[in-house]
Amino acid sequence: MAEQTGTASAVDWDHLGREAVRHLQALIRYDTTNPPGNETDAAHYVLDACREVGLDGEVVESAPGRGSAVVRWPAARPGSGEAKRPLMLTGHLDVVSVERDAWTRDPFGGELVDGWVWGRGALDMKSQVAAELAVLQALVRAGVELDRDILLVAFADEETGGEMGASWLWEHRRDLVDAEYAINEGGGTAVPFGDQTFYLCQSGEKGASRLRITARAKPGHASVPLDDTAMRRLGEALVKLHEWEPATVLTDPVRQMLETIAPAYPADTRAAIAAILAAPSWEAISALPLDHETRLMLRATTRDTAVPTIVHGGHRINVIPSEVVLDVDGRILPGTDPAEWRDRVQGVVGDEVEVTLLSEERGIMADPASPLFDAIAATVAEMDPGAKVAPYLVSGGTDARNIPGVKVYGFFPAPPSERHALYSTLVHGHDERIAVEDLAFASQFIHRLVTRFCGA
Ligand SMILES: [Zn+2]
Repeated sequence: MAEQTGTASAVDWDHLGREAVRHLQALIRYDTTNPPGNETDAAHYVLDACREVGLDGEVVESAPGRGSAVVRWPAARPGSGEAKRPLMLTGHLDVVSVERDAWTRDPFGGELVDGWVWGRGALDMKSQVAAELAVLQALVRAGVELDRDILLVAFADEETGGEMGASWLWEHRRDLVDAEYAINEGGGTAVPFGDQTFYLCQSGEKGASRLRITARAKPGHASVPLDDTAMRRLGEALVKLHEWEPATVLTDPVRQMLETIAPAYPADTRAAIAAILAAPSWEAISALPLDHETRLMLRATTRDTAVPTIVHGGHRINVIPSEVVLDVDGRILPGTDPAEWRDRVQGVVGDEVEVTLLSEERGIMADPASPLFDAIAATVAEMDPGAKVAPYLVSGGTDARNIPGVKVYGFFPAPPSERHALYSTLVHGHDERIAVEDLAFASQFIHRLVTRFCGA
């Protein structure tokens, strides 16, 4: 597992960065807006680029047009003793829709302007697929010898849940995507804590266990007011839901994040963190000296959350409806049971309304105590001396939950810069774009990580 410094020092990093840019531009030009997705052509681009360097794989379609690219680079030296299972470099090819009129440039033009690559997917996440592709080509061309297989897997259909992509492949073609570890989207942003820089590595996700709250009561003519209506019942349930303060729970990734960042703070903050680890409370966490974004992130990832988003009901202005329905985006921590979660929310809103589950998805975690996590930390320390890596839990979901047998870390590092705040508004927003220097940094990181972790 020692790094092949000889190989690494011979790498032409500028060339690697240019190749990542070229692949990103090409990938953006395939309109893979999902729905409908239409990822097959982009998947063939990935496969063809791998064939150029002598690798083989396939484009697997879950349905016509819904292709995922799967490429395997067999280990040159599988190593003695127990064979090491593959490392997967992964990402998704589909993107969310655009409001064309709101864009300054063509969202599917892949333009390179003043050091930025523009287009839908520039951040989420054709950039990472492009970087992984450029790295794989570079390593194969350089004849680097690795001790485990590398998989490059570019999935279809992440943005609508992965049913036609990652989860389909896990169900039907597990032989192609089974790996010990995967590097995926969802982490890598550098954040200051105390007097140090920490790159956050996603090592867990909450699960989407969505809820529907239905209120029913007698209907009537709206010219004659009634005391008890479906509207009244739903309104009271909404207020109770809004006023609810769910219990604060520390899952392993959050606990380990707090333990990792504590030494960067002075003694009083370190003591406050120790107290939180012993007896978690939101009051104590919110009193830590954190920026607004981090506080919001921690609030979302230290509790189960139920956020109302859609109201259905009523059909005529002069009719008191017999039923009104509220859909609630429920997100539960790893360890929370969806059925228990439903019961808990029912208890909060009271029994005048009915709570049902729209989806039952559990949260997931990958233990940060692993050789790959250590290799990520060592590689970051090499590229950004003094910086550390901290695990964290994300409130959203990625394909990680669709490949449940694989230890997935979300890590595509972006060094400290004023661009972070901008990026967070561009993902799924207008004028999505990535700075070439950030793409080059992340590409170099993946190259160094693979060499360090799998170098034979
Ligand atoms: Zn994504």
